Amino acid sequence: KPGLMMDRPLLISGLLEHAAAQHATQEVVSRETHGPTVRFGIAQTARRARQLANALRGLGLQPGDAVASIAWNNHRHLEAYFAVSGSGMVMHTCNPRLHPEQLVYILNHAEDRVVLFDSTFAPLVQAIAAKCPRVLAWVCLSERERLPDTPSPAAATPLAYEDLIAGQPDTFDWPEFDEKTGAVLCYTSGTTGNPKGVLYSHRSIVLNATTACLPDVLGLSTRESVLPVVPMFHINAWCIPYAAMVAGARIVLPGPRLDGASLYELMEAEKVTISAGVPTIWMGLLQHVEQGGLRFSTMRRTCVGGSAMPRALIEKFNDVYGVEVRHGWGMTETAAIATLSNLSAADWERPAEERHAIVARQGKVVSGIEIKVVDEQGATLPRDGASQGELMVRGQWIVERYHKADRTALVDGWFPTGDIATIAPDGVMTIRDRTKDVIKSGGEWISSIDLENAAAGHPAVAQAAVIGIKHPKWDERPLLLLVRKPGAALEKPEILAFLAERVAKWWVPEDVVFLDALPVGGTGKVQKNELRKRYGGVFSG
Ligand code: ADP
Repeated sequence: KPGLMMDRPLLISGLLEHAAAQHATQEVVSRETHGPTVRFGIAQTARRARQLANALRGLGLQPGDAVASIAWNNHRHLEAYFAVSGSGMVMHTCNPRLHPEQLVYILNHAEDRVVLFDSTFAPLVQAIAAKCPRVLAWVCLSERERLPDTPSPAAATPLAYEDLIAGQPDTFDWPEFDEKTGAVLCYTSGTTGNPKGVLYSHRSIVLNATTACLPDVLGLSTRESVLPVVPMFHINAWCIPYAAMVAGARIVLPGPRLDGASLYELMEAEKVTISAGVPTIWMGLLQHVEQGGLRFSTMRRTCVGGSAMPRALIEKFNDVYGVEVRHGWGMTETAAIATLSNLSAADWERPAEERHAIVARQGKVVSGIEIKVVDEQGATLPRDGASQGELMVRGQWIVERYHKADRTALVDGWFPTGDIATIAPDGVMTIRDRTKDVIKSGGEWISSIDLENAAAGHPAVAQAAVIGIKHPKWDERPLLLLVRKPGAALEKPEILAFLAERVAKWWVPEDVVFLDALPVGGTGKVQKNELRKRYGGVFSG
């Protein structure tokens, strides 16, 4: 028998209108690309979003059309999130760090009609515009005075966003449609082959955003100031822009400057309480506060994911700076956070070291998501914390098939993640590696993540990466690539001795290479495929 309740669709426009009506003066704070910080009440953000929706309609766009963004986290990008999806169009967020050819590929594949970009990316736009014939308007997220100079002849003559919305009515009748309609399109980074598009539905985003607010997930409320460092161009900044509307939280958008000093200054000036981003961001921030002997006056919690958060960093943030770390796992295909490490009341009673070990794992699924690990034949492995296999996931915001693919991406109803994991009896999941990063030495697996974490525990290490190198006897052996902290002295024998005390003997890396920096991709992750290309053949023994 059907339930007898109203069938109101879960739509993104509803999130904005809720926040505008209930939290009209709650602030959206945004650092402009050219420097200054601006602030709006949510009601004003909603008015500007409605103006943009009218303007896009004025350009002739229809529901179902796609609008791309190549932009930082800022208020215009936020307005576009709601204007585009809210009016039934698809918001295609592009990662500006993709190779220009890949960017051309995804803009054409998505059939984008309008591209919204930050002035930072003007040269990129000029380089690709001629190859994107379907795009009818290139819109710079700025005032007219700040339009970038265009070369002559220009491949694209940009419009200014402020001109586009000026004079448009600030009311808009958001259409009502099926909540399963596509709302946001995000492509995977495409480290192998062309990027694949994941088309999030309104339903999946609203459910994800609502869950993200829970106390044991991000814990957003009207009393919190949330700073998403994680980019709005990749996986919707883990849904925080939507979640902030659900919760009525204050949102602080950092713009292009994501170095430790800029972030610290913004956190202090804007009294940020909660933040989220990839580990490399927190390394930069920590280095800045350590060097300057600084403290956080309002920051209470940071959610970290995208790659494994080294335990040493968890410890520093918690014990030295009083900032609670929550460590999550997710991927483009899972639209943000799927699991999160969190401490229960009983866990909080444990000694610090045990608590950090719990947080260093990737945690438990949030409500709405299920996981299992399977062996190479697809048989489910026991949840014993030791049996490792491919991590499979299913749930209300997990991809079913890629954009324009003619077949499902699922195996027996589950999405194969390409990650190797274990699940403990209490449900806590640990990522051991990615299938393509795991090192197979003499038929046994070595977890590159575990080795990196161990190396990151050395006080002189700023960053560590481990890749497999070919070996005549063992097939593969681990190679450690290290960046020293500024001014720190560390040589190979010392770090190898340090590791020998912490990992199995046969895990100790074959060799160590010291670098000035690790290659980092657009989403702040170390590019191991780059490292493999450059150093995969180093071992000569
Ligand atoms: P890509 O890295 O290819 O751009 P995503 O941004 O979708 O793709 O990243 C998803 C992958 O990142 C996951 O499959 C997993 O390998 C890795 N990852 C995400 N969070 C964590 C974490 N907390 N610990 C370890 N690995 C993680």
